[in-house]
Amino acid sequence: MYYVAQVIRDECTKYNCKQCTLFCPEPNTLMYTDETHHAYVLTERCKGCALCVYVCSNLLKRDSIEMVYAENRDVAGVR
Ligand code: SF4
Ligand code: SF4
Repeated sequence: MYYVAQVIRDECTKYNCKQCTLFCPEPNTLMYTDETHHAYVLTERCKGCALCVYVCSNLLKRDSIEMVYAENRDVAGVR
């Protein structure tokens, strides 16, 4: 059992900031779509380090990404 990151779409779309994507240590894992204006996680590549949650919640106070049990994740990396 392990955790992966998952974006909360309705919160993330408020900001259009992309900041978390600059800090993910895994390439091509935490992405951003300009079409619908939110980040998303390729959860099969996520290593569960939670750095993105630290950036979004602790530093930016935006609370738009969370850690979830891998078996409970949305395959699109957003909810
Ligand atoms: S830092 Fe938070 S609000 Fe900004 S793109 Fe990432 S998940 Fe969305
Ligand atoms: S938990 Fe770590 S590896 Fe996964 S998306 Fe966030 S920063 Fe990237």
